[in-house]
Amino acid sequence: MQFPSALDLVLSALEKIRETTDRLPHASRAALLRLQSIELETGRVRPGAPSKADLLAPIRERVCVCTKCPHLARSRTQTVFGVGNPDADLMFIGEAPGVDEDLQGEPFVGRAGQLLTKIIKAMGFAREEVYITNILKCRPDMPAGSFGNRVPTPIEMQTCRPYLVEQIEVIQPKVVVALGAVAVEGLLGVRGTMRDLRGRWHTYNQTPLMITYHPAYLLRNQAPSEKRKVWEDMLQVLERLEQPITDKQRNYFL
Ligand code: URA
Repeated sequence: MQFPSALDLVLSALEKIRETTDRLPHASRAALLRLQSIELETGRVRPGAPSKADLLAPIRERVCVCTKCPHLARSRTQTVFGVGNPDADLMFIGEAPGVDEDLQGEPFVGRAGQLLTKIIKAMGFAREEVYITNILKCRPDMPAGSFGNRVPTPIEMQTCRPYLVEQIEVIQPKVVVALGAVAVEGLLGVRGTMRDLRGRWHTYNQTPLMITYHPAYLLRNQAPSEKRKVWEDMLQVLERLEQPITDKQRNYFL
């Protein structure tokens, strides 16, 4: 189908919704900007149109000054928006910044992050080629004098989720990987055991979503069988992305 006629169909469907319901159709700022940047005649992106990096910048600015969770705004060193290639085909979503991420302003830079970076490299990508972010953009606060990290509350996740939704809408990855049960709950609103959830394809807004263990789980449980499970999930991701897979890659952790 030609792009202009596809656009006509979308516009007339939106018109019908507007005429027949009380709720006006909603489009995000990013979706409107991307639509405006498309040439109607050809369906191509106009030269000079905002890039995905341009579209992420104002979201990052809003996140930077966010005080929707006043307790987190008070306790954080800084927000942790996301890192990597805004044009990435592959996006990893974790839970929330830990102490190292809060200090450095970048997701997955602590021990779990170093393991995630190794997994990404074993997949044949550089860390800079994929996009990495979290459900929460602030480190969950901890009682004074205590160490470690705490799990985000459902309210904190719901409050922060719109930023992640906008990031995914701009990046439009071909595959999303959710790391751990908290990422799944934040993204899909589904609570389940990782045993049931991981290793299968799910979808987030029509984008294929693979669920796998959080790298912190692999640090706690060093059994080769658990590493192999994560690796099998990543092999499925590579297949979905139509990336070539070497014999060496197929045989990791066997
Ligand atoms: N764990 C996460 O889920 N995210 C990070 O950024 C770091 C550790």
